[in-house]
Amino acid sequence: MNVSRTLVFVGAHPDDESFGVGGTLAQYAAAGVKVYYVCGTRGEVGEVPAEMLRGFASVGDLRSHELKCAAEALGLTDVIYLGYRDSGMAGTPDNKHPQALAAAPLEEVAGRIVEIFRRLKSEVVVTFDPIGGYHHPDHVAIHYATVMAFKAAGDPLKYPRAGAAFQPQKLYFHVFPHTLMKVMVKAMSLLGRDMHHFGKNKDIDLASFVQEGFPVHAVIRLKKESVQKREKASACHASQLFGGSPRGGLLGLVGRLFGQRDSFMRAEPPVKGRRREHNLFKGVV
Ligand SMILES: [Zn+2]
Repeated sequence: MNVSRTLVFVGAHPDDESFGVGGTLAQYAAAGVKVYYVCGTRGEVGEVPAEMLRGFASVGDLRSHELKCAAEALGLTDVIYLGYRDSGMAGTPDNKHPQALAAAPLEEVAGRIVEIFRRLKSEVVVTFDPIGGYHHPDHVAIHYATVMAFKAAGDPLKYPRAGAAFQPQKLYFHVFPHTLMKVMVKAMSLLGRDMHHFGKNKDIDLASFVQEGFPVHAVIRLKKESVQKREKASACHASQLFGGSPRGGLLGLVGRLFGQRDSFMRAEPPVKGRRREHNLFKGVV
């Protein structure tokens, strides 16, 4: 690529940039694209082993430090925080905190994202799918705010104080391929795992993954180096790895199943035809 290109991934917590789309972000960064992570919160509500907090003022402080490490491993140009607070899982008191991302007015969150799209002039935007991958309230909030921001950024009458209008060209949602997910959940239920209460905090309803399927319009095949960078970046988030390596547990399983490629649904421009893309910048002018 000889022209300067910019990709923005909008996520919610320190680790969303690594565990999900890390391989794709690393691959574009290595190709010379400026890749930014716009992160909604500092992961203040994440559960962290007490001994890991030593030397840090707070969980948010520790997790921002981990994100800095991951951003370096992925080759990101920068991390930009939206300044909200982690809302925790649905139904927890943290949802109601005055600074909670999930409690913030959507228009306000979108406005902060619009300012970033305009300032960075990002051609391609990537965020979560409409269920936020696994129904995390912050992921869902980021999804809707990013969609709203994408539609508003090019309109000078919207958010006039957030810089000169600039329209990003493509919007993608990172998705888990439905069929593979189905097979995986089925296999694990057969092994006797409770798929409604999965993960360290028993708060991930894996079974709900398979209820909603999103179309796959783009598949990025990852080079070995991109996979290695993602693993290195994931390892930076030690406080979220529950004592295991990124190869263990749920992440490891998902990683082995989907590790060599990332799948995306293209929201904008709308997809015509059935041909899959293998480059998120295809057609970008
Ligand atoms: Zn997250």
